Amino acid sequence: MLGKLETVFSYTAHFILQSWPEKRPGILFLTDSGGRVINFMEMQVGPSQNSQGLTLQHDVSIGKVFDFIVEALSSKEIVVKTSSETNNVCGAFPLCEEDGRVRAVIGMLVPQDQIHFDLSSYMRGLEPLIRMGYDAYIQHVTSQIVMDLTLHDTTKELLQSLTSQISDIIQKGCCSAVKLADDATLIPQESVTTQEVEGGQTHIAQLVSRFGTTQIMPSILDDHRLVVVPVSLNQTPLYALFLHLPPEETDCVYDERDVAFLQEIGAKASCALWRSIMSDDLRREASKKDLLYQLMSKIQASIDVNDVLHEIVTSIPSLYPYLSAELFLTVEPNATTPVKQLSFQEVEPSTSTKAYLEGRLIAEEVGEGEQQVTVIAAPLLGKQGIYGVLQVTSDQRITLNQHEKDYISILADTAGTAFENAQLYQQSRNLIRELRLINEMARQLNRSLDLKEILDFVTTMMRATFDAEFCAILRKTPGEDCFHVLSSSIPAFNGKVIDSKEKPFQQILQNKQALLLAQPGAGPLPFSLFSCCSFMGVPLVVEGEISGVLLVADSRYHFFSFDDYKLLEIFGQHASLAMTNAVLHNEMERMVITDNLTGLYTRRHLNERVRGSLEKDNYGSLILIDIDYFKTVNDTFGHQVGDEVLIQVSNLIRHSIRDSDIAARWGGEELAVYLPRVDKNTAHSVAERIRECVEQETSPQVTISCGLAKWSREMDVNLSVEALFHQADIALYEAKNSGRNQVVLA
Ligand code: GH3
Ligand code: MG
Ligand code: MG
Repeated sequence: MLGKLETVFSYTAHFILQSWPEKRPGILFLTDSGGRVINFMEMQVGPSQNSQGLTLQHDVSIGKVFDFIVEALSSKEIVVKTSSETNNVCGAFPLCEEDGRVRAVIGMLVPQDQIHFDLSSYMRGLEPLIRMGYDAYIQHVTSQIVMDLTLHDTTKELLQSLTSQISDIIQKGCCSAVKLADDATLIPQESVTTQEVEGGQTHIAQLVSRFGTTQIMPSILDDHRLVVVPVSLNQTPLYALFLHLPPEETDCVYDERDVAFLQEIGAKASCALWRSIMSDDLRREASKKDLLYQLMSKIQASIDVNDVLHEIVTSIPSLYPYLSAELFLTVEPNATTPVKQLSFQEVEPSTSTKAYLEGRLIAEEVGEGEQQVTVIAAPLLGKQGIYGVLQVTSDQRITLNQHEKDYISILADTAGTAFENAQLYQQSRNLIRELRLINEMARQLNRSLDLKEILDFVTTMMRATFDAEFCAILRKTPGEDCFHVLSSSIPAFNGKVIDSKEKPFQQILQNKQALLLAQPGAGPLPFSLFSCCSFMGVPLVVEGEISGVLLVADSRYHFFSFDDYKLLEIFGQHASLAMTNAVLHNEMERMVITDNLTGLYTRRHLNERVRGSLEKDNYGSLILIDIDYFKTVNDTFGHQVGDEVLIQVSNLIRHSIRDSDIAARWGGEELAVYLPRVDKNTAHSVAERIRECVEQETSPQVTISCGLAKWSREMDVNLSVEALFHQADIALYEAKNSGRNQVVLA
C-alpha cells in the first residue's frame, strides 16, 4: 500500500461517510498493523440522536477491548461482532498489501439500537468504496507531484523534490534519479537521491558502478529490492528512476503497486523533466559560450595571460560543479593564479604529463586511495607549441560526453593561444627594443672615431640596456695572459688587471664565443673583480683574434635572459667594429704626422704646430739642426749606417726635450725642434745640451750644427712660419761657416 496511512484513511473515509445513513451515530477509526488507533472520526452527519457515550483515544491499543480487531488482523477477513456489555456493534475491515500482509484495519463502532441494517453486509459493500478512495488518493498525489514539477527552476531541484515525494509515498527505502546518456547508459556524476535517507547516496553510487556501461531497461531486481524505471521522451533517454532498499532495510520489498506508481510518475514527469533538462542545457551552453566569449575578448583586449588563466580556473567549477581545475605549466608566467610544475621525473607518467607529451586530451580513471576519480587533462595548445596542461579532476568516477571534452579542449587551447599571443607580443617588443638599441648604437658609434668616447658610450649603453649592477670593457694585449679594464660602470675598477686564466675568461678565449653563466643556488661565480651570480661575456674579435671582452654581471640569480645574451652579442660585434675603426684611425693619424725612419714628427706637422703657437702663444724658440759632414758618414760607412746615425741623433733629441716641445725631421739629415713658450736662453741651453749629447753619444761619432731663432709677440708682429724658419736657417748657415759643432743664435 502506498502513502501514509492517515492520508489514505482520510481519502477513504470521505467515500465511506457518503454511504453512511444520516443522523446515525458511530465512530470510524483506523488502526495500524499492531492494532494501535492512529485516527478516528464521528460518522454522524447532522444533529446527534444519541452518541451513547462512544469514545476512543489515539494511540490506544484496543486489542484487549476490541478482540474483533485482533481477529481481523489474523484472519484478514471482515469481522463484525456485538458487545453485550456496551451494546455496540463493532466492525473491522482489514486493509491488505499485495503480499497479503495486513497494513491497517478500518474499524467501526456503532450503538446497536441505532442501526436497522446488517453491519457486516454493509462493511462488505465498503470494499469498492475503499478502493475508490485509495485510487482517488493515488491519482491525486500523482497529479500533485507532476504539477509540483513545473515549479522548479533547475533539474536538480526538480529531481530532489520528485525523489523525496516518491519516497514519501512509497515509504520504503530510497528513491534516486541518475541521468542517462543518449545510449541509455548511466552518467554517474548527475545523480540525485532522497536527502533524508542516510546511506542512500552511497548505495546508489554502488548500484551505478554495478550497472557500469550497460543500457538501462525497466527492471525489478534483487528479489524486489531494486526497481529501475528509465524515463524518456520521444525515445530520448532522460533519467533512470531507482527505488532501492539499502541493505539495512530487511523487513520489506517493493510490490507491483510501487512499481506501477513509479512507472506512472515516470511517464507523467517525463515532459517536465525534459523541459528542465533543456533549460539547464541552454543555461549551461549560454554560460559556456559566455565564458568563451569573455576569454576571447580578454585575449583581444589584453595580453595578460594571467587574466585568461584565472578566468578558466574559476569558471570550470561553476560550469561543472563536480570538477575542480588545476594548471600545470612549463613556463612561469609570473602567475597570480596558482600553477603547478609539470613533472617528467615519475616512473609512471601522470595524466597531465601524458597529455603534454602526446599533445591531446586524455581522460582516465585514477585510483586515489580507495576511491576512483576521473582525471581529464587537456594540453594548452598554441600554434607553435604546448605551454602546459589544464587538468580537471572529479571527486568520483564520471563519464563526460565528447561534447564536454571538446569544450574543455577549447578552453585549454584558448589558454594556449593566450600564451602564444603574450609571447609573440613580448618577442616583437623585444625585437623592436633590440632594433632601436642597435640602431642607436650604430649611429652613435659611427659618429665618433675617438676610442675613449666609444668606450664610454658602450659602457653607458650596456648599463642602461641590461640594468645590471656591473659592466665593463676589457682589453687583451696580444701575447699577454691578462685583461685590462679599459672602461667600467665602477670607475675605481678602470685599469685593473684580470688574469685570463679565470674561468669565465678562459672559456671565452677557448671557445671564442659569448658566454652566459647562471648557476642557480651554486653561490657566486668564479669572477674575482665583482661578486656575481649572473654573468655574460662577449669577446671583441678583430681579424679572428680576441682583443677584448664586453661583460655585464649582477649579483641576482637568473638575471639575464637568452634575449639579453643575444643582444650583448650584437653589442659586441658593433663595439668590436667601432673600436677597431677608432684604433685604425688613430694609427693612421699618427702615421700621417710621424716620420717613418726617425719616429719624429713630419715637417708638415711641425709647420702646423709652429703656426698654432704663433697664433696663441706669446713667444717661442726654434732650433734647426744639421749633421756635420754627413755625406762623409754615408760615404765611409754606407747609407745603412748613415740611417742609424740619423736615428741615434733623433732619439737623443727626443730625450733632451719636454713633451710639450716638438721635434721633427725637417729634411734629409736636417732636424728641427720647436719649443713653444720657451725663451732664447733656455732654448740655447737645450740646443747646447743636444749638441753635447750627440757629440758624446753617437757611434760612429758625428757632430751637429744648430741655428736658433726666437720670437715674441711684442717684437715680431705678424711673423710667418717661413720667416721664423728662415731666421733659424741663416743662423744654421752661420754655425756651419763658423766651424760646425756649435749653436748660433739668429
Ligand atoms: P755639411 O752639412 O757639414 O756641410 O756636410 P754634409 O756632408 O752633411 O753636407 P750636406 O748637408 O749638404 O749633405 C747632405 C747629405 O746627407 C747628402 C745625403 O747623401 C745625406 N743624406 C740626406 N738624407 C739622408 C738619409 O735619409 N740617409 C742617409 N744615410 N743619408 C742622407
Ligand atoms: Mg744638410
Ligand atoms: Mg749636413
